[in-house]
Amino acid sequence: MRKITADYIYPVNIAPIKNGVVHISDSGEILYVGSLRKGDEEYYKGIICPGFVNVHCHTELSYAKSKIEAGNGIDSFIGELEGLKRSITEEEKIFSIEEALLEMQENGIVAVGDIMNSDLSIGAKSKSSIQFYNFIELFGSQANVTDKVWQKGIELYNETAKPKNIIPHAPYSLSLDLFKKINAFQNNSSTITIHHLESRGEVDYFESASGPMAERFKSWGLKFPEHIPSNKRPLQTIGKYLKNSKRVLLIHNTFIEKSDLDFAKKTFNETYYGLCPNSNLYIENILPAMDVLQSQELNMCIGTDSLASNTSLSILDEIKTLKDNFDISTEELIKWATLNGARALGFESLYGSIEVGKKPGIILIDDELNLLEVLL
Ligand SMILES: [Zn+2]
Repeated sequence: MRKITADYIYPVNIAPIKNGVVHISDSGEILYVGSLRKGDEEYYKGIICPGFVNVHCHTELSYAKSKIEAGNGIDSFIGELEGLKRSITEEEKIFSIEEALLEMQENGIVAVGDIMNSDLSIGAKSKSSIQFYNFIELFGSQANVTDKVWQKGIELYNETAKPKNIIPHAPYSLSLDLFKKINAFQNNSSTITIHHLESRGEVDYFESASGPMAERFKSWGLKFPEHIPSNKRPLQTIGKYLKNSKRVLLIHNTFIEKSDLDFAKKTFNETYYGLCPNSNLYIENILPAMDVLQSQELNMCIGTDSLASNTSLSILDEIKTLKDNFDISTEELIKWATLNGARALGFESLYGSIEVGKKPGIILIDDELNLLEVLL
């Protein structure tokens, strides 16, 4: 057993404890958290908090690290990524995934919501101590590909370790039939996640079949799906196909408005808002609509997105960006990065807070949000 004390313990489920103490079993289980010091504890200067939960990553895109130019917008990003994908061998891709998992572990990340389009990450993840929620992501806006896309998704799902789910890529990239199949697949314990309002073009596309996204569709020779234009915002259009799941985790929310929050509140059982600020800066050079998101008590959580659109896989780097740009307390940000993320993925019985019976991982940071040590 280890007995640890520090200037502050952030259990997260309760208020920070000054000069607090944590007892941890050899298997990493929390046995005690409180303020009873006996003098035989290991002392650390700084803040002790639970391991981080990264709600949104694409580990299989790790090969694209430092290869896509920043700041050129989502259309250019998708185009460059497609070209890059074909120029790199499978061995290189798998090696880059293994490196990415180690990086996350060294950065104090204990659980990850990982988006999958292939089986490339399965081997590396099976050897990692990180807990994954595997999200098999589907897209296909044209009605004639629905059956093929679904079949491929089911095959990948069957190969993949639990917990897992089949999820839609984004409001704009699926036919209604594909949305309906995914919704019918959900159950009362699943988390569904979707990229949401990453670019402004998404709104114009739904409301009036215009703007850069509509132009991209046309340039690819694709037909607009039956529900475009819907004269409604994206979430109001496709939200009914997300609601069979227990939790809805909306990622990015860069161009979110209050009407979206109201819709989610009345439509979904539980809604979580995942932010990937460094990826938003990298791709669109913009940050999430925090004025809207901070206007209500929401379940906010944090993701890194992939190394294709980020220079690191570090939740602390995301927190620093939010702290530099918005007025949010450290305590609040740590909660987003730990307990809220754990709840979004259904991992709160083991992760997300320093509570007796959990195995959340223990990390040491300083008050400027630098990682000092991963203790456990
Ligand atoms: Zn993503």
